[in-house]
Amino acid sequence: MNASLESLPATLQALIGQGVDAIDTPALVVDLDAAGRNLQRMAEFAARHRLRLRPHAKMHKSAAFAHLQLQAGAVGLCTQTVAEAEALAAAGIDDLFISNQVVAPAKLQRVAALAALLAARGGRLAIAVDSEGGIARLARAMQDSTTAIDVFVEVDIGQGRCGVAPGQPVLDLVRTLTAQAPALRYAGLHAYHGGAQHLRTAAERRAAIGQSAELLRRTVALLDAAELAPPLITGAGTGTFACEAASGLWSEIQPGSFLFMDADYARNERDPAQPAFEPALFIKSQVISVAADHAVCDAGHKSHAIDSGGPSVHALPGQPSLEAHNGGDEASILRPVAMAGGRLPALGDTVWLIPGHCDPTVNLHNQLIAVRGGLQDGCVDAVEPVLARGVW
Ligand code: PLP
Ligand code: MN
Repeated sequence: MNASLESLPATLQALIGQGVDAIDTPALVVDLDAAGRNLQRMAEFAARHRLRLRPHAKMHKSAAFAHLQLQAGAVGLCTQTVAEAEALAAAGIDDLFISNQVVAPAKLQRVAALAALLAARGGRLAIAVDSEGGIARLARAMQDSTTAIDVFVEVDIGQGRCGVAPGQPVLDLVRTLTAQAPALRYAGLHAYHGGAQHLRTAAERRAAIGQSAELLRRTVALLDAAELAPPLITGAGTGTFACEAASGLWSEIQPGSFLFMDADYARNERDPAQPAFEPALFIKSQVISVAADHAVCDAGHKSHAIDSGGPSVHALPGQPSLEAHNGGDEASILRPVAMAGGRLPALGDTVWLIPGHCDPTVNLHNQLIAVRGGLQDGCVDAVEPVLARGVW
């Protein structure tokens, strides 16, 4: 791994090869050893269950991590925005799926251009649709193109976000889609249930995906009867992928967060059918003030997203056990964990926070600082730009 060094500001270039202590705070730091183990565990799971692994790049927004995932056996990457797909394509990734609805004509022009670019390199672009209008708009954007685009019909299997209702509406939409062949190629179904990922108990998650699978099974039976069997069903995230695997319906999984593992996922009861993942994404912060009963560090919610709750504090050996509380944009308030001895850190001490939600946390930063050899004695291995930040 290593982004082109010339593109980095001198202060960041100078960090490479230095010890962790040299990283100024607040900074977004990846423990490469932990992320590598997480990736290995996921790749082994996918191989054992004969599933295609297409990790979601909305989480890391990084070409280097996308390439690591491909080296570990991923078939390609998912993105949620056109800009993420463009950025990964520019970095040499050839197989991309925009697992989202895109309807703006200007964006669809970019989708068509990207499909042509990837096809010319022997790769492919796929995208989701969930309406007749969406198919018509995509077809219009592709009408001057000599290449095809793979299209997945998105099915709402319980999240209540995008996706056409299961059953007959899916069959109707697949018919509309196949009428646009060969420019639009029916690639299968996209069926993702985000709400199920964060249900706290494994039993709740199994029940939710069990219901989703039932809806999907009936839908597939309808499609089979109409000789429109989906070539592939893709979906699943870090919280539930073992449930989708167990159903036998999905043949591709799209988890993203497993690589870095946010604090919120660590708060889930682990499903024994899933491998254990370690925290690999941290905010390195520093204590800037100490009072009688609390300390303050220099990382607030401009450093880490708080939509899934606050960060956990990662205590290294010898460091006090602390809880982090919201201290505003640029600060978190640290208090000793009740019953754990009540020790506070000292002024200037390093405090490692595990963000509650990794995707929007990464999006707050310009770069990921990748460390090898652990957070205590490790060295900076690479500084990777966060690509396609923002919402386009
Ligand atoms: N697939 C889709 C469509 C998503 O929106 C997401 C995340 O929100 C994922 C996959 C990955 O989920 P996770 O990061 O929870 O593994
Ligand atoms: Mn997320």
